[in-house]
Amino acid sequence: MLRQRLIDALGADAVKTEAEDLAVYAFDAYSQGVVPAAVVLPASTREVAAAVKIAKDCGEPIIPRGAGTGLCGGAIPARGGVVFSFARMNRVLEVDVRNRRARVQPGLINLDLSKHVATAGLFYAPDPSSQKVSTIGGNIGTNAGGPHCLSYGTTVNHILELEIVDENGDVMTTSLDDIGYDLTGVLVGSEGTLAIVTSAWVRLLRQPETVRVWLAAFDDVNAASAAVTGIIGAGIIPTALEMMDHVMLPAIEAAFHAGYPTDAAAVLLIESAGFEDEMNLHESEMRRIMNANGATTWRAAKSEAERDALWAGRKGALGATGRIAPNYYIQDVVVPRTKLPQALQAVAEACGSRGIIAGNVFHAGDGNLHPLLMYDRGDSKQVAAVIEAGNEILEAAVDLGGTISGEHGIGYEKRDTLTRIFSTDDLATMSRVREVFDPKRVLNPEKIFPAGVGCAEVK
Ligand SMILES: Cc1cc2nc3c(=O)[nH]c(=O)nc-3n(C[C@H](O)[C@H](O)[C@H](O)COP(=O)(O)OP(=O)(O)OC[C@H]3O[C@@H](n4cnc5c(N)ncnc54)[C@H](O)[C@@H]3O)c2cc1C
Repeated sequence: MLRQRLIDALGADAVKTEAEDLAVYAFDAYSQGVVPAAVVLPASTREVAAAVKIAKDCGEPIIPRGAGTGLCGGAIPARGGVVFSFARMNRVLEVDVRNRRARVQPGLINLDLSKHVATAGLFYAPDPSSQKVSTIGGNIGTNAGGPHCLSYGTTVNHILELEIVDENGDVMTTSLDDIGYDLTGVLVGSEGTLAIVTSAWVRLLRQPETVRVWLAAFDDVNAASAAVTGIIGAGIIPTALEMMDHVMLPAIEAAFHAGYPTDAAAVLLIESAGFEDEMNLHESEMRRIMNANGATTWRAAKSEAERDALWAGRKGALGATGRIAPNYYIQDVVVPRTKLPQALQAVAEACGSRGIIAGNVFHAGDGNLHPLLMYDRGDSKQVAAVIEAGNEILEAAVDLGGTISGEHGIGYEKRDTLTRIFSTDDLATMSRVREVFDPKRVLNPEKIFPAGVGCAEVK
């Protein structure tokens, strides 16, 4: 019944119900959910709306899915249902160069947008390290960040209008220009629990006149952390300020030949973009701060190729973990920048005491840590130890005045941890917002809110 109705509405090639097709949609980059009843690949907003009506009619949950690179289980079907893949809705629909904006479909790959508008001297700023594969729809779902969000802001700062399909299959639009409540802001980061995004007008930025990239190496990770605080404290906001530690540097270098020192305790990868004069000032001031904090090396990329190589190492870092262990678990927590040394110490203790190798590659300028806990999934003791260490790191971040996610979202993974930072009243208020959009919890159920918590329970 479900299958036939979906085929009638979308066509047979847009509906998958074979076991071997469905199995792959049970996963995302975090974990495995339940095998869905069907997967649909709509080609238009009209088809999305039709499929929503059918799924709801048949009592099936609806799970929007981008590229499945999410790291908190946001796209896994927690209760089965119908997965909506946007692989066929992956186009740039319109570019408005004069107003520096573009209208795109949700399945468009993030990096493809910047490539598409490059000849007009424009780019799309949010750049998750997954940008070669993750989609604009998924980025909107998680309010994705990335190395360059330190100065440009996260996805929410770049979404101007949304076209959405609600849980009834009705199509509507929201805009930043709307008078009244900022529904666009509410929808970004809602992880597919409030509506399905079917297109978006996104902000484009003009490519900067000059881009400079520097690498600073340190013998001591605390000195590198102090240098981060020093830069921001001096009133300089680089476009990116990333840290990589001694565990990750040799692995990244072996994989990407990025030009990183393999014997440093930590390196900072720093980028500034803007006008030539301003960049010269940034460079001399940052060099002074690095020296004052004991940097052993300070290097400026001399060419675009060198710049690209330094970035390729950073952006490919997660892939390089394969040289250390068969599997990694990535934690995503935030602490105040001044607490980075304590947070890194907490990571070392949580992992060291359990015999887990931990590497660090993270958005230091934002205080957004991404400890990478290396393990072998085939060893149940290691799996248990990684879960324990991950939780301990999360607790430490909260105790240091931070929070439980910087950019990966809450999804399935962290929903029970939400009570660590929000009171029952807070959760009840959030639940009421969800109730307005999706009273029956048809859209991506079992996500964000603690297990078993519906509006009634938290009221
Ligand atoms: C190697 C690697 C590096 C990463 N680096 C970063 C990083 O630097 N910064 C960062 O923020 N994240 C990063 N991530 C995490 C991940 O890439 C992001 O969360 C990304 O935004 C997910 O996009 P996706 O297309 O894969 O979405 P999915 O994982 O498929 O979905 C993510 C969420 O969005 C919802 N969703 C998808 N499409 C829609 C839609 N059309 N309408 C409504 N909801 C929708 C889903 O239901 C789900 O809740 C990284 C992941 C990997 C594997």
